[in-house]
Amino acid sequence: MANAAYRMQDHLVEYDLEHHDITPEQVWSEFKLQNQLASKVRETFPRRTVHPVVAMLVCMDARIDTNELVGDTRHNYYIVRTAGSAMSLKEEEMLELSVANGVKVLILTRHSDCAAEKAAKDPELRARYPAMVAAVDERDARIVEFLARPVIAERIRAGALLVKQLDIDTATEKVAEHTLAPTTSAPAPQAEQPH
Ligand SMILES: [Zn+2]
Repeated sequence: MANAAYRMQDHLVEYDLEHHDITPEQVWSEFKLQNQLASKVRETFPRRTVHPVVAMLVCMDARIDTNELVGDTRHNYYIVRTAGSAMSLKEEEMLELSVANGVKVLILTRHSDCAAEKAAKDPELRARYPAMVAAVDERDARIVEFLARPVIAERIRAGALLVKQLDIDTATEKVAEHTLAPTTSAPAPQAEQPH
């Protein structure tokens, strides 16, 4: 249902990311119009209280629609989005907080044709976006670090938390599991960067 409603909005070409010739003011007007539409629907169907049991770490890439990926994610999932799905200490804490708030399944993703990954391999872009590419460089090490956090490691050990690592095919949104970094608390070898 929710996805069908999204499809109904698709004809609004002003929101089409391919149309780069429109002005920022036009985009902003469309943004406000969309919000009026959405909030009117929300007034009619008030939000219920839910406690998410799934948290996902996803790249900020606009092609990846988390609602499409797993169904309606707006209330049932915590979604953390960063460039290249790379965590810093801040995101590690955000995800640990979500686990403290009841999350039982944590999904760490990466995706094909990732601009952040490409930037990390391009000397010019590395110089222009040093903080972002550093985060991408550290991505796998951060996962290992996150899994070793006492709260996370303890919940995994107790069977109270499941951590999955997924590759998203950007074109089809099909997912495949990978275990680039180990999801147990066993001592981890330094994970290799994908090429
Ligand atoms: Zn990406």
